[in-house]
Amino acid sequence: AKQFGSGQFSFFHGDSHDTAKRTLILENELRRAIEYKQMRVHYQPKIALRDGSFAGMEALVRWNSDRLGPVSPGEFIPLAETTGLIIPLSEQIIELACADFLKYDFATLSPAKISLNISAFHFKHPALYEGLLSIFERMNCSPSHFELELTEGAVMGEGKAIEDLLARLREAGFGLSIDDFGTGYSSLSYLQRFQVDWLKIDRSFVHGIAGKKENRHIVEAIIKMAHSLQMKVVAEGAETHEEVEILAGLGCDRVQGYVFAKPMPPEEIQGYIEELAIV
Ligand code: C2E
Ligand code: CA
Ligand code: CA
Ligand code: CA
Repeated sequence: AKQFGSGQFSFFHGDSHDTAKRTLILENELRRAIEYKQMRVHYQPKIALRDGSFAGMEALVRWNSDRLGPVSPGEFIPLAETTGLIIPLSEQIIELACADFLKYDFATLSPAKISLNISAFHFKHPALYEGLLSIFERMNCSPSHFELELTEGAVMGEGKAIEDLLARLREAGFGLSIDDFGTGYSSLSYLQRFQVDWLKIDRSFVHGIAGKKENRHIVEAIIKMAHSLQMKVVAEGAETHEEVEILAGLGCDRVQGYVFAKPMPPEEIQGYIEELAIV
């Protein structure tokens, strides 16, 4: 495409036109998918490094669109956030996780702990607390089996109000975790005030930890700091045994990654855990 003057692009450039078109289709399809409840949830196990046992799992939304095929959450969650669709979408995902919990007897898992991703936009919504609790009540599910994964961006800012909200969520029984740790603002003082149970180290530090000394130093520092604040640490995105060995050596508590399991449909979870117990 031709460029007109400084920083001005032609709107008829093929790529940006296609992108805009896909975004439009995506938004329409997303609305329909929410209306017709076409989302599914897959679950990715977390493993305790101490003894290699099952240690809970993360719920991850999956969408197979009629028109577009499988669309990754990395693409449609940001779009849901900018269009406000994240609230009904997120509520539907949580409802689905509660329904799976009952349908597949997740209460019999040890531990019966499921992490839910709460996007920053949803977390900042004034009705978040009431909305969440009414879903758990309606679905007859206990928040004590669930943990909320919040990003640094969600919990930073307006100190006191967020502190109170987090305290109320804990009182209701939810576990709390800071997701993608290390990628957002890194003010550490808020961690102490917020009483979060878990830090989840972002994949960008974990994957490739074997080759990159700097990554190892960062991960080591995060683990030390978390432990000194009585928090535990999950590393996400470990893909090799070597990475797991290093994480274990650094005192990391849990690992979640393709090296152990990819996210799987709810009906496969019980079988996965049984196999884990055998080997
Ligand atoms: P996230 O919360 O950081 O989730 C971890 C992502 O890493 C997931 O991608 C997971 O499938 C992927 N992953 C796990 N282990 C490995 C590994 O060893 N290697 C690699 N390469 N990837 C690994 P997914 O499911 O595509 O989700 C992407 C992002 O979309 C999530 O990042 C989260 O921010 C968002 N998301 C997913 N499900 C939900 C949801 O139900 N609600 C909300 N609000 N956001 C969600
Ligand atoms: Ca997450
Ligand atoms: Ca994460
Ligand atoms: Ca991540």
